[in-house]
Amino acid sequence: MKKLLRGGFVVTGQSCRRADVLVDGEKIEKLGHVMADAPWDTEIVDVSGCYLFPGFIDAHTHFDLDVCDTTTADDFDSGTRAAIRGGTTTVVDFACPNKGETLAHGLVLWHEKADGKCWCDYGFHMTIDDWNPDIERELDDMLAAGVTSFKMYLTYPAMMLPDRALYEALVALRRRGGVCGFHCENAGVIDARIAELKAAGLSDKVFAHPLARPDYAEAEAVGRVLRIAQAADAPVILVHTTNREALGEAAAARRRGQTVYVETCPQYLLLDDSVYYDADWAEAAKYVCAPPIRKKADADALWKALRRGEVQTISTDHCSFTPAQKDAGRGDFTKIPGGLPGVETRGELIYTGGVAARRMSLAGMCRALSENPAKLYGLYPRKGALEPGSDADIVVYDPKADHVLCGAELASRAGYTPFEGFATSGSIRSVYLRGALAVDRGRVVGARNGQYLARGRCAL
Ligand code: MN
Repeated sequence: MKKLLRGGFVVTGQSCRRADVLVDGEKIEKLGHVMADAPWDTEIVDVSGCYLFPGFIDAHTHFDLDVCDTTTADDFDSGTRAAIRGGTTTVVDFACPNKGETLAHGLVLWHEKADGKCWCDYGFHMTIDDWNPDIERELDDMLAAGVTSFKMYLTYPAMMLPDRALYEALVALRRRGGVCGFHCENAGVIDARIAELKAAGLSDKVFAHPLARPDYAEAEAVGRVLRIAQAADAPVILVHTTNREALGEAAAARRRGQTVYVETCPQYLLLDDSVYYDADWAEAAKYVCAPPIRKKADADALWKALRRGEVQTISTDHCSFTPAQKDAGRGDFTKIPGGLPGVETRGELIYTGGVAARRMSLAGMCRALSENPAKLYGLYPRKGALEPGSDADIVVYDPKADHVLCGAELASRAGYTPFEGFATSGSIRSVYLRGALAVDRGRVVGARNGQYLARGRCAL
């Protein structure tokens, strides 16, 4: 049976227009005034007054990940259930083999974690935390398996690589048409500052965390990786970019003719570092993530860069821990597991803080949450578009149904949201995954039938 979503406004990366959407099975068949073409038994769904977005893509999640002697609160079951409730119909999670392990092992492990457990579609990036001729040869297997994007770290001893490896990996990826995201922070400066802060007696203060990881330590690593990419003649993705100094480095590289893609996250757009100074330790610890949340001026710079197309995507870096897990860092701020839940709330946060606050257009939101990640990560136009032939992944957004975010009501096992009490403009009314109703007024009504997506090459 076909479905006709009738009376809504279809949002694309270019416009927002009144159109009905005819869905046949898993695909979009037609848009426009298509009532006359619909067979008699078509299910008519009234979506008048609502915006229809292509299903959101979250290209930065960490589900079922072992870090800091613990495991993230959300696995692929609860994580993708949270995702679909928030209008995210595709996640791209970071497969992460340990140093000394093969990429093939990492991919098998992530399939074991995810297959059969997902409420939305999913793909994997591959973390490169080791570099040698065997790993280089494995890149071909990864691309053949639909893993076309990678990630490297400039900090964290368990994962960081020296400059020569960064250069050689970038050359190897450029030759194969793969792209790479980078976690940019200067490891040495951070280690030194941690030692200083502890010596000054600030071990039990959460605000020592942002003091240890200043914006310039991020910008330095951004600048360095961009110079290495210049030498390798390769594109770069800057993941979870937080601040004005880092954006300046990206702009400078673009002026040199380099290709730079920039991702940011809702916490960097909508919060500021005052969260770390809460008198209640547990409250402040909820916001510990790396890089840390910055100043209001940095958030303003990120919004401006989004409007100019200098930031292309908004993902979440969902890496959830319960308040009890965060408690491991009482007395030593470096032991607080770093990461925030976010996969469930991104759509409503960006609609509210972006579109309704007139910082961003509906088309701009569509580009940042759907179209650009689909193009960047080789999923377009199957995903990221409401066009004939695209997957019928549809978010029905009701701009009038305001509500208040409450961590206890969310599907994430984190048990809290960094946006507790946030008053939204509108809300997600329903979500379709490949033509099937998956979420209806906050209730998950779909099934765990998310599919693995073998992705193609970057086309942004
Ligand atoms: Mn991350």
